[in-house]
Amino acid sequence: MTDRLWDVVVVGGGAAGLSAALVLGRARRSTLVIDRGRQSNLPAHGIGGLLGHDGRPPAELYASGRDELRKYSVDVEIGTVVAASGKADDFTLTLDTGDTVRARRIVLAAGMDYTYPDIPGVAELWGRSVFHCPFCHGWEVQDQPLAVLDGGPMAEHRVQLLSNWSDDVVLLTNGEPSEIPGADTRRVARLSVVGGELEGVVFEDGSTLRRKGILVPAPLSQRSDLAEQLGVTFADPSPASLNPVAADTRAMTNVPGVFAAGDIGAPMPQVAAAVATGSMAGNAAVQTLIFGL
Ligand SMILES: Cc1cc2nc3c(=O)[nH]c(=O)nc-3n(C[C@H](O)[C@H](O)[C@H](O)COP(=O)(O)OP(=O)(O)OC[C@H]3O[C@@H](n4cnc5c(N)ncnc54)[C@H](O)[C@@H]3O)c2cc1C
Repeated sequence: MTDRLWDVVVVGGGAAGLSAALVLGRARRSTLVIDRGRQSNLPAHGIGGLLGHDGRPPAELYASGRDELRKYSVDVEIGTVVAASGKADDFTLTLDTGDTVRARRIVLAAGMDYTYPDIPGVAELWGRSVFHCPFCHGWEVQDQPLAVLDGGPMAEHRVQLLSNWSDDVVLLTNGEPSEIPGADTRRVARLSVVGGELEGVVFEDGSTLRRKGILVPAPLSQRSDLAEQLGVTFADPSPASLNPVAADTRAMTNVPGVFAAGDIGAPMPQVAAAVATGSMAGNAAVQTLIFGL
């Protein structure tokens, strides 16, 4: 990478970052997308609920998004940004290789980490028969025997929500006491996986409950402290790393010249929302380059 001053550097090449880059490219703004290439939903078979791409593999969306950028003034580089400093019109971003790039504006679109329960079998089925979002994956397991695996305060809410997709929903609290009618409080040992599919939930007492899908909580956290390094404020300041950054309806943060799009600033993470806020961030960044901050 050179000492070139880009109009905009976009950190992250998921739905949000690529959407921002498309708007920036079409506005003829020199744009560099730096992407680590680990979009959150890659383990899923398909993206549920994205108009024009419903049920199709996530990787196809990112590949076609990158293809669409080729004819515009956008470069996409594989890399990881580890540090950010400076101010509007002269930000510096440092990659893990030690390379630096300079930008007049920054779009933060690095997504968030999802932490799913640490139970054997969950990682193998994550984003398919074990999921955190019934709007994304409920259709695929509709009318099947399902479970909510959650011993926390949102358990009953999740049971009610998932009951929209099936009449057979069991709450498993994994050892936590519960007064919710029908709750099974036994400790879960592992998930039984046969041929890559969920067969059931195996309890510590050795018995198995056959299930086809499981809804779990998956709290989100920031993937890095880039936003903090730039002085961006969070929606809820304590503890900042667990919260989305605060961005207004134009995807602008409190730091002039820094925009945030996608999960990194989303109260309700969805691909459609990431595309929308990415588009907004691209649009707003261009306007600030034309009219000033
Ligand atoms: C398993 C799973 C399944 C899901 N299924 C659905 C679904 O069916 N429908 C739906 O609407 N939503 C779904 N979601 C939510 C959806 O994936 C997210 O809302 C969406 O991916 C957010 O897009 P994003 O661009 O903000 O982040 P991401 O898609 O995560 O993209 C961020 C990109 O930035 C890169 N990055 C991170 N840090 C850096 C850095 N420091 N430097 C450079 N690059 C960096 C990452 O590697 C990644 O490539 C699912 C989520 C999960 C976890």
